Formats: sequence, C-alpha cells, structure tokens
Amino acid sequence: MADSRALAVLKDKFGYDSFRRGQDQVIERVLNGENTLAVMPTGGGKSLCYQIPALLEPGLTLVVSPLIALMKDQVDALNENGIAATFINSSLDYQEINHRLSMAALGEVKLLYVAPERFDAPGFIDELSRLNISILAVDEAHCISHWGHDFRPSYLHLSDVAAQLQSHPTVIALTATATKKVATDICERLDIPDGGFVSTGFARPNLTFNVIKDQDKDTYLLEYLKLNANQAGIIYASTIKEVDHVAALLASKHYPVTKYNGQMSSTERNQNQEDFLFDRKPIMVATNAFGMGIDKSNVRFVIHYQVPSDLESYYQEAGRAGRDGLPSDAILLYKANDIRTQLFFIENSDADEDHKAEQYRKLNKMKQYANTGDCLQQFILNYFGQTGTAPCGRCSNCLDDRDYQDITLDAQKVLSCIIRLRSGWGKGMLTKVLAGARDKKLLECNFDKLSTYGLLSSYRQKDIGSLIDFLTAEDYIQVGNGKFTTLGVSEKGGNVLRGKETVRRKMAAKAKQSLPVDDDMFQSLRALRMSLAEKNGVPPYMI
Ligand code: ADP
Ligand code: MG
Ligand code: ZN
Repeated sequence: MADSRALAVLKDKFGYDSFRRGQDQVIERVLNGENTLAVMPTGGGKSLCYQIPALLEPGLTLVVSPLIALMKDQVDALNENGIAATFINSSLDYQEINHRLSMAALGEVKLLYVAPERFDAPGFIDELSRLNISILAVDEAHCISHWGHDFRPSYLHLSDVAAQLQSHPTVIALTATATKKVATDICERLDIPDGGFVSTGFARPNLTFNVIKDQDKDTYLLEYLKLNANQAGIIYASTIKEVDHVAALLASKHYPVTKYNGQMSSTERNQNQEDFLFDRKPIMVATNAFGMGIDKSNVRFVIHYQVPSDLESYYQEAGRAGRDGLPSDAILLYKANDIRTQLFFIENSDADEDHKAEQYRKLNKMKQYANTGDCLQQFILNYFGQTGTAPCGRCSNCLDDRDYQDITLDAQKVLSCIIRLRSGWGKGMLTKVLAGARDKKLLECNFDKLSTYGLLSSYRQKDIGSLIDFLTAEDYIQVGNGKFTTLGVSEKGGNVLRGKETVRRKMAAKAKQSLPVDDDMFQSLRALRMSLAEKNGVPPYMI
C-alpha cells in the first residue's frame, strides 16, 4: 500500500516520524498517478510531497523551481540524505548540463531540478523527451498565473508540457499562496482535475499578526529590536533607498544587520544572503527581491517597513517567519501615505489596463487589511477564500483591549457626506469637507455645504482620514478601482444611514468627540430627510 511505503521513506530517508497534515494525501494521489495541486502554508512541508514519490516511482522526477539561488542547497541536502539528485541552471556550462542530463537519462538520478527559464529554449522539451520522467513537480506554481503576485512568463511553457512528454508524467503543483482565481488558473494550465486540489488551509497558528499604525517607524523598530535582541528576522522595505536607510539605522546601533536588493551584484547578494542564513548577520533588510524559497527555520520576525503591493505578497513574505513552528511575529508598519509608493509602481508598470485594475483592487485589499478592526489572521484567510474560521485571539486587533465605541453617528456623517458630494470624490476631498478645511477648491464649490461641510470639524484631518479608512476596511464605503479611488456608499453603509445598523470601533474614548452643536444640526437634518424620504417613498439619502 502506498501509505506504508511512503511512511517508510519518510522515516528512513528523511528521519521524520509522521506526516504533516496533507502530506500523505498529496503523496497518495501522486503515487496513484493523479495530477494534484497542493496548497499548504509556507513551511508546511511541500517539498516532501514530491520528494517521497520521487523515490517510489521508477522514473525521474523533474522539479521546476524558480529558486535558482537555492537549488544547489536543496540538492546538497538531498544528497546528504543519500538521495540521488542534481540540478541544471544557468550557473552551469553547456558541457556540465549535458553531463547531468545524460546521468538523468541513464537513471542515475531520481530528482532533477530545473529553472523555468530552461523551457524558454525551443529544444528543451525534446531533450526531456529522452528521459523517463514519472513526475513533473512545479514548485511555486502561482508563478504560472497572470493573476498571481509573481507571474513568470517562463512558467507558461509548462502549460501542457506533461502532455508533450512521452512518458506522460504525473503533475504535482505546489504553492503557499493562491487565491481562487490563481488556483483555477494553475489547474487549467497544468491539467489538474477539479478534485485534484488538496489544501491544508492557509492558517499559520504560530504567527502573530500586527498592524502598527501611525507610529514613528524607526522608534518602533528600535524598541522592538531591543525587546527581541539576538533574534533572526527580516525587515522588508519597498525601495532600495528605504532599505539603505533602515540598514544604516540598525548598523548605527550595532545590530548585526545585512541587506539585499535586486540591483546589487550577484556576489554581494549571495554573500549577504549567506551571512543571514548562517546567522552571521541574523537581521536582513531587503526589498521584496529577497526571500523566495529561503528555508531559514529560525526567523522570529518579519517586519514590513512599508506596505507591500497585495496580501498575497504580504502573506508570503510574512510567512517566512516561524518555519520551525515556534511563535513568531509578522508586523506591518503602516502609514496611509505609503500607499503612494505602491500606486506609483502600478502606474509605471507595463501591465495592460485589466491587470492594472486588478493590481489597484489588490492594493485596496491590502489597505483594508491595514485598517480593519477585525481579526487579522481571519482577514487573510477570508481573502484566500477560507471562511468560517474563528478569530485568532493573538493578533493586534484581537488583543486590542480598548473598548468598543459606538461611532454610528460619525459614520453617518461620513457616509452622508459621500452621498451629498455626489461628485465621486476621493478620500482627500472628503476629509477636507468633513473637517471644514479652508481649501480654495472647496470654497468654490456649490455643494450642499450646510449638511456636510465641517461636520467633523472637531477632529484632526488625520483622524478623519483614519475613520474613512476604517469604514472602507469594514465595507461601509466602497472604493472604485483606479488610480484615484472614488468613494461610494455600500449596501452596508446604506443600512447605517437608514439607522438600521450600528458601527462600532475599538478606540480610546477620548478620541471620540464631536461638537454637540454639529450633532444637533446633523440630527435634525437627518430627521428632516428621513421624514421627507418616507413621504416620497425613497431612501433618505436620495433626498
Ligand atoms: P514549504 O516548501 O512548504 O515551505 P518545506 O518543504 O521547505 O516547506 O519544509 C519546511 C520544513 O519542514 C523543512 O525543514 C522540512 O524538513 C520540515 N518537514 C517537512 N515535513 C516534515 C514532517 N513530516 N515532519 C517534520 N518535519 C517536516
Ligand atoms: Mg517550498
Ligand atoms: Zn486575530
């Protein structure tokens, strides 16, 4: 039986006692020759899902992996376990590649790792056809989808590759991040049937998610490191300039820090990566060019110094913490302004309009994550389509011990202002109107000032902005997907305006203060609208 053979290999070759969740199920499918997509969280143990079948099948297992820098390490680790494995990528010369392919043809290796770029060469599939390939393993399979966060054109050559190979290998695709759309895409391209999807869910019970908003980032960072001295961690920043800034800051305080970005020479990158991996410099400051496939088990924290482009990237990067299963932190340092950097990246990318719209949509979700009052882990799981989970009880929102304040009235003011403006304005103008700002552009307008101008004038503009973000994150406000996000009132928001739903938010009581005069005026205007609406049989906000 498949299970007992697989278990024996797990023990004998890898020295583990039992399978982790999902592993045996995936392995069994692969051994049965069924194409499979395995979705498991980072550190969940995806590699064994193809390495064990590789040892049980007669032919070769071809592993496609974008992690060229790590191929050698992976192969070395297998060799140390007495497993015949090798790799081919651009670091090798032509002769060496031919030599390795011949070894594979002779059946002298069980696993052959290749970079997806190999498939760009027209003759490569023909060459592979000479090999008896039993399994085609596609690691980081989300790279095959345009809708994923890390699309690699070379992966497209993998579509239908299995069908072109004479040995008709079983396909196993693996990823830690796939929205429904991406998962569907992977299955279509790699010919994985409807039932071929094995997911252990995305939850990472040992990670504590935190959003730190509107605090001085450098102060926070230094405080955090003081409390977590001698721990390994990664700090992600969105630009090379910011990477340099953070690295210099930490170096000035004598932390063992190194850095990484895509524009460094490969020698320097490798050197720094190794310093980090071998704990010579356990703090890595990097752009998102760093880290895919990094298997460093003792990373205790991943801090995002700036907001990343989407939740998939965020979860994958944050997920590099705690691969050993021990408690670890994932921290997002958030300032509303940081969104601008990501907007800039999108505007200047060469994606077509559809994909840009998708990226704006994803960025809005990321923004919602930063501003929600709900459980952060739950928010992420919902994003990946995993619903019905309980609040995690450990994220910064779950642990926020401030009391809930009823902010229905303030919410109504904001929503009502959106409706009254009617002109599809964005957050900036909305904030100014509510604050009663003396903005020239505003004063020239002939909107219904009486009902909305200065309604929240007792708040700082920053707090109004944060309230709008909160209402957006909680889906009371809808945003358009574009460079300039215009705001609208959602159905849920409509219920709030109609007095059918209340809005609660955890916050310090003192932060909640509106001018009573305003409130009276607002309340009576609202009452008037309600009665007019009733008389005319339309929703109050139509009045
Ligand atoms: P992923 O690719 O899903 O991120 P890896 O395959 O790199 O994860 O595995 C993460 C770590 O978990 C590795 O150190 C691996 O050896 C270990 N591991 C995998 N399966 C098991 C298991 N069944 N028991 C114990 N450790 C395991
Ligand atoms: Mg992996
Ligand atoms: Zn939580």
